[in-house]
Amino acid sequence: MSLTIVRLYHDLLGTYGDQGNAEILMHRAKARNLGVQLVEVTPGMAVPRSGDIYLLGGGEDGPQSAALAMLKQDGGLQYAAAGGATVLAICAGFQIIGESLPDTSGNAVAGLGLVDAHTIYDASPRSVGELVIQPSRGGLPMLTGFENHQGLTRLGEDMPPLGLVLSGVGNGFNKQEGVWHGNIFGTYMHGPALARNPELADAVLQCAAGPLRPFNDPLADAFAKERRQTLTGN
Ligand code: GLN
Repeated sequence: MSLTIVRLYHDLLGTYGDQGNAEILMHRAKARNLGVQLVEVTPGMAVPRSGDIYLLGGGEDGPQSAALAMLKQDGGLQYAAAGGATVLAICAGFQIIGESLPDTSGNAVAGLGLVDAHTIYDASPRSVGELVIQPSRGGLPMLTGFENHQGLTRLGEDMPPLGLVLSGVGNGFNKQEGVWHGNIFGTYMHGPALARNPELADAVLQCAAGPLRPFNDPLADAFAKERRQTLTGN
């Protein structure tokens, strides 16, 4: 089998190394002898409709609005997601895949609507720092990342979060962090998230590739463990 990973506008949306999530997925796919190719989508290019995994990173408000406008006009990501493609969206990308978010003037605009999530900016201080969450399914362990966002994201009642916040802010409502709806993942965790959390990388990969054979990656595991221990003592 051969996987196509589509990295969307990483010059606009790629803060804190989020573009590295693609490299981690490729590394872990190749380790399972899966064929994998990376399609780099830059502004002005059409978004392929038949990709297996689509990646969006975080970014400042201006680039975020520009990316949202292009994605809306193109329609390729929405088409692929409706067909079951896997999506991993970080921070600004997470806000983009929701139902609504603030534009650069703070007015609510429609997002892509892939998940039932509404982002607002309120008067609370910016959420900046280390984030630790406990996922409730998928056999995932405690996950860690770095968050830096003004927006707070309320999930619809039936939307499962990626996990519950142990420390940090996350979505800012009901101790929830991120979203995991079908094959769509959103999170406020930078890091890149998949470098810091190899188990999350495999959960994303598995949505697109099916069951994965075991892969022993001591360096990645040691890094994830070091982050968890430093932040929680566990
Ligand atoms: N502009 C968004 C916010 O501040 C996203 C920030 C980010 O992606 N780091 O909420």
